[in-house]
Amino acid sequence: MAVKEFKAESKRLLDMMIHSIYTQKEIFLRELISNASDAIDKIYYKALTDENLTFDKDSYYIKITPDKENRTLTVSDTGIGMTETELEENLGTIAQSGSLAFKHDNEMKDGYDLIGQFGVGFYSAFMVADEITVISKAAGSDQAYKWQSKGAEGYTIEPCEKNGNGTDIILKLKENTEDEDYDQYLEEYRLRAIVKKYSDFIRYPIKMDVTER
Ligand code: ADP
Ligand code: MG
Repeated sequence: MAVKEFKAESKRLLDMMIHSIYTQKEIFLRELISNASDAIDKIYYKALTDENLTFDKDSYYIKITPDKENRTLTVSDTGIGMTETELEENLGTIAQSGSLAFKHDNEMKDGYDLIGQFGVGFYSAFMVADEITVISKAAGSDQAYKWQSKGAEGYTIEPCEKNGNGTDIILKLKENTEDEDYDQYLEEYRLRAIVKKYSDFIRYPIKMDVTER
């Protein structure tokens, strides 16, 4: 399968994220939840105007799934999803992102917590993951697609299977280092605390399966 290169702007942001020494790496979860919430907003508004779509409140939610065995953390939503073209355009190019335009001008003002204050978006997941898989099925489409990237080299897109519209973002967490514990993002209590801290205002349910003790 052909590996596609990221656009120049995206590469720059990606590099910043991959080599991030930022201490608040936990904000990646805020970014993924915010995108999931936006995606549900979009299907909600679509349902308001499209009589073929009904908005059943209970079937819209965000789900966080830590998998300790495989060291993956998945953030799923039942939102609008992305077509193949949208995966390509939205995740391959970050240039449109308002947050990046802001960073351009202000990056050098040190002592100021820019990453913490402003959305850095999807790529912030590369602060904690060395591979990201996005499985998405757009509302109204029969075909799902898988976008996958290990960062710098680029990304691949191929058709895949998925039940229902929406998006699963699967993070393969980085290996722990002496300075950095990535396993913390597999702990329920830790995930719960991060959600509470940054995403308490999200208006859709944020679910997590609880393991029995
Ligand atoms: P922003 O949210 O500021 O637009 P991001 O980097 O967070 O920038 O996301 C880039 C784009 O990727 C979004 O604008 C959206 O189009 C798409 N996207 C990201 N996550 C999802 C998702 N869970 N469902 C649908 N689209 C998504
Ligand atoms: Mg975003």
